[in-house]
Amino acid sequence: MTLREPATSRCEAHSGPLTVPVAKSDAPPLIRESGQREVFCGLTGIVWLHRKIQDAFFLVVGSRTCAHLLQSAAGVMIFAEPRFATAIIDERDLAGLADANAELDRLVTRLLRYRPDIKMLFLVGSCPSEVIKLDLSRAAARLSQEFAGKVRVLSYSGSGIETTFTQGEDACLASLVPLLPPEAPDSDCSLLVVGALADVVEDQFRRLFEELGIGPVHFLPPRSSTELPSVGPSTRYLLAQPFLSDTARALEERGATRIEGPFPLGVEGTTAWLKACADAFGVAPDRFRSVVAPKIARSRESLDRYRAELSGRSVFFFPDSQLEIPIARFLVREMGMKAVEVGTPYLHRFHMASDMALLPANTQYSEGQDVERQLDRCRAARPDITVCGLGLANPLEVEGLTTKWSIELLFTPIQGYEQASDLAELFARPMVRRTRLAA
Ligand code: SF4
Repeated sequence: MTLREPATSRCEAHSGPLTVPVAKSDAPPLIRESGQREVFCGLTGIVWLHRKIQDAFFLVVGSRTCAHLLQSAAGVMIFAEPRFATAIIDERDLAGLADANAELDRLVTRLLRYRPDIKMLFLVGSCPSEVIKLDLSRAAARLSQEFAGKVRVLSYSGSGIETTFTQGEDACLASLVPLLPPEAPDSDCSLLVVGALADVVEDQFRRLFEELGIGPVHFLPPRSSTELPSVGPSTRYLLAQPFLSDTARALEERGATRIEGPFPLGVEGTTAWLKACADAFGVAPDRFRSVVAPKIARSRESLDRYRAELSGRSVFFFPDSQLEIPIARFLVREMGMKAVEVGTPYLHRFHMASDMALLPANTQYSEGQDVERQLDRCRAARPDITVCGLGLANPLEVEGLTTKWSIELLFTPIQGYEQASDLAELFARPMVRRTRLAA
């Protein structure tokens, strides 16, 4: 096993047999598919998570392909010291000639010796580590003991066999939940905002909660591994990202209660997200109105310039980031677009209920993927813009379709009032470009 620090190709996961789509008559139209997928694997989450938890390090136990995926997705390293690397499983490991556990221990010891700034180490599983059945949870327990008091070692899977794109973050945060300290007895109600947000967005929400008189407020993941929030029956948690079902389940097992609402995308989503929280914390309606009204006014104004470009246009979502439903809600309700098909890798009906309730009842959803069939539907519909992974974007552009890379929706701060226009611009820009090219 050798250590590969960030230095390039990406790998997309393909799997599964073909099955025929089905629809239910007593619910919104839903196509369920299981076939070939075109989505990044869960390792991709490291790209934004390593920026968030600033004293953590992500060690992927994988192949050169995994290292290339991370390097190309992360782009230029902006830190003096990288916060992720790949322990490359080589032929000797695969052939069983080397003791992979001993190799891993040796690499981790070396890494932690020359990087004393690392306080939390995530061992991240991949397709190759799964194939050789390397038990990273046991390795994490063993290494945690060895480095007790200095470094906490955790593990989760980012493998393309098990996870899609944003599920890596879910797996990472779920692995953190057992480490969260219990609440003190008789604790007052506290708010836990769950899901990685850009620091600038987190700061804006923190100020808003302060103005509303909601607190104490904590964020998961925290910026430092030493600031893990406590959790228990007095914790009300608010999902900031729609792809965190395992984390939500783990928090509920610790006694926390979810505050239901749409996701904070667009003016309407942000207001409803905050309102659900304000109601849960007993904020008076007048106070809520006076805090949010100026922000709503400014944010709506900022959207006006994009409405002319987007209104009346059609959008087609391939399943990728699990952000598709709340973004479709924003584009349809606030920008006047028409959703042809809203695909999502997994449909969590409880977490999505508020957003789905705001979309027209006849919205066509699809869950899972059979990429060839979905491509056929997309080509037949000829939408004005198609939201899809990188692997599909170029071929569709060649066919004359305008695309938006779904990965940008994760790499760009889009939540909250001040980012609503940035979210609209992400969709307006490719259309303007297409119009100019056609002129
Ligand atoms: S984990 Fe699997 S799908 Fe992801 S980069 Fe590695 S080999 Fe490819």
